[in-house]
Amino acid sequence: MTANSDLHARRNAAFTRGIGAMLPLYVERARNAELWDADGKRYIDFAGGIAVVNTGHVHPRVAAAVQQQLEAFSHTCLMITPYRVAIELAEQLNALVPGPTPKKTLLVTTGAEAIENAIKIARAHTQRPGVIAFGGGFHGRTYMAMALTGKVMPYKLGFGPFPGDVYHVPFPIEYHGTSVDDTFAALDHLFKYDIEPTRVAAIVVEPVMGEGGFYVAPPAFIQRLRALCNQYGIVLIADEIQTGFARTGCMFALEHYGVEADLTTMAKSLAGGFPLAAVVGKAGIMDAPTPGGLGGTYAGSPIACAAALAVLEVMREENLPERANHIGALVTRRLETLQSSLTCIGDVRGLGGMVAMELVKNRDPHASDAELTKALVQQAAKNGLVLLSCGVYGNVIRFLMPLTASDEIVHEGLEILERSLRELI
Ligand code: PMP
Repeated sequence: MTANSDLHARRNAAFTRGIGAMLPLYVERARNAELWDADGKRYIDFAGGIAVVNTGHVHPRVAAAVQQQLEAFSHTCLMITPYRVAIELAEQLNALVPGPTPKKTLLVTTGAEAIENAIKIARAHTQRPGVIAFGGGFHGRTYMAMALTGKVMPYKLGFGPFPGDVYHVPFPIEYHGTSVDDTFAALDHLFKYDIEPTRVAAIVVEPVMGEGGFYVAPPAFIQRLRALCNQYGIVLIADEIQTGFARTGCMFALEHYGVEADLTTMAKSLAGGFPLAAVVGKAGIMDAPTPGGLGGTYAGSPIACAAALAVLEVMREENLPERANHIGALVTRRLETLQSSLTCIGDVRGLGGMVAMELVKNRDPHASDAELTKALVQQAAKNGLVLLSCGVYGNVIRFLMPLTASDEIVHEGLEILERSLRELI
């Protein structure tokens, strides 16, 4: 029995089956864009812990900041006796989030918690109940976040009832025949059939749909959403939990659209592997909740805040937004070359370093190939590459390697990807 298979058996006995298990490999060590498992095998990491380590595994600057903070103190509770690293982080986030309106910050711990709090803030500000999200979107696994998530299997299956006054309309995806006009027609219908726009508190949107399949929001869609929210006093929430922190070639994806969100949710690569999330938004909206209405015991952990400050420094100094564009171009070029000879690659798309390929049968956008996608993830792991799938139909491979990965590592990973795919078809 190998160390991996032993741990796998123990995992299956010890964990609820409700936690997904993509690969039966157990990590012993990770550095930058490489992992080593319990049997000593090396992998290139194209998953980045689901977009958490844009600065790479255990970046030396992040590790040093965490060690320094640990020597000072690890926890006091931000609501009781606050501390400098959290204030400095909030100041930097307020300045980084796109748009001219002065911002304020709420620090929390997970992406889902950021979403929950964004809805609380929007409702407190507007005094309205309704929230609109998009089919295929993902916003987390807690109750309101799950209600907003537009995918039943596996996220909502058997977990109802969900909080009320949550509505979904289709996300515009040209590849699957849904235009921006179709989305706005669906919003018109919603306002006719279900809820008047003046009872809607918020619209929540991912600028690039993440779990749902890496579909990039068309500029006209985001701009028209902004206009609609202005018209009816609806709070526009940009969920940048996956798109944020240099991934799309900007610190936040909304910079590409020239649009200012009212609230932005962020988590994942904010703290390079430490649990930290935030809602950053227009000060007048952020101040709507009553004092004590927001918070949490671990919200804004000093260790995670120290890590986040180091992450922001690394992103500036190593120019990771530009690096995201460079890596994205390398991956896209390679995938497009493959696509010209392989009929299973239906679409290659992305924004900056947030790139994906959609696997189909015979170039038919409607013939999604989830089996091939699943097999490719397993085959690539056998060959030493960690890949991540996504998509409403489970047929998209998304690329979320650390933005600190060298060109050599990216090319080596792409070689393994191509070999693994060719071994399967
Ligand atoms: N929103 C988006 C866009 C996400 O990608 C995720 C996580 N995949 C979440 C929310 C939820 O974040 P968490 O898992 O930290 O709760």
